[in-house]
Amino acid sequence: MGDRNLEAIPERKEQFYEGKAKKLYATSNPDLIIQYFKDDATAFNAKKRGTIEDKGVMNNRMSELFFTMLEQHGVKTHFVRRIDDRQMLCKRLDIVPVETVVRNIVAGSLAKRLGRQEGETLKHPFVEFYYKSDPLDDPLIYPEHAVAFGWATEAELAEIRKMALRVNELLTGFLDKRGVLLVDFKLEFGRHHGEILLGDEICPDTCRFWDKETRQKLDKDRFRRDLGGVEEAYHEMLRRVEG
Ligand code: UDP
Repeated sequence: MGDRNLEAIPERKEQFYEGKAKKLYATSNPDLIIQYFKDDATAFNAKKRGTIEDKGVMNNRMSELFFTMLEQHGVKTHFVRRIDDRQMLCKRLDIVPVETVVRNIVAGSLAKRLGRQEGETLKHPFVEFYYKSDPLDDPLIYPEHAVAFGWATEAELAEIRKMALRVNELLTGFLDKRGVLLVDFKLEFGRHHGEILLGDEICPDTCRFWDKETRQKLDKDRFRRDLGGVEEAYHEMLRRVEG
């Protein structure tokens, strides 16, 4: 398939998945799917629910900008093109059921688990793996678990780790120029014709962004922790990423 075909928008077919923040649709092209971004927001494994006005629109646009920048620097992603305000055309992935988290600064579950102060800068970034399972609350795993249970091969995990650290380098540099600290973030990967591609979305739902000067939170923690100014934070992040 040539790139020109990839850019054409295939017909939207049946919905085959609905998650907390997105719906996925098949298309007339078996290699491509459509991600539809909702305004629904959940936290603490959906124990807390709400909506963030226009979140879907902002996350779709922000993900487009991040994926485009990453592709320009050689990171292979599932992103094909944005279709409209809430829809993105993507390559179909066989998702690896492991969430990959990269951390630069202590926050969230790391602070809690190891009794560290939120805001402590780590000596170096590192990668963590979590098993994607709602009933189990996405438990932290060793890479060995993923291999032993057949969720990914050792070679795939090595590739995922390498890609995640490269994404961290690129995003950290890009955001630094825009006055934003990248605290931590979650990525998902999948297979497409045997190749590992970065999937899902990159947005304030899946990353912690802090203002570099004030350390003010510009991400979903405003919703999780009832800090107010949720929509404003998403708008501010989009404004900075658009540059
Ligand atoms: N994260 C995510 N989805 C999840 C869990 C975490 O997108 O199901 C993101 C979260 O936004 C943060 C990073 O991954 O940027 C690390 O999250 P952490 O493990 O600290 O968990 P949390 O405190 O969000 O429960």
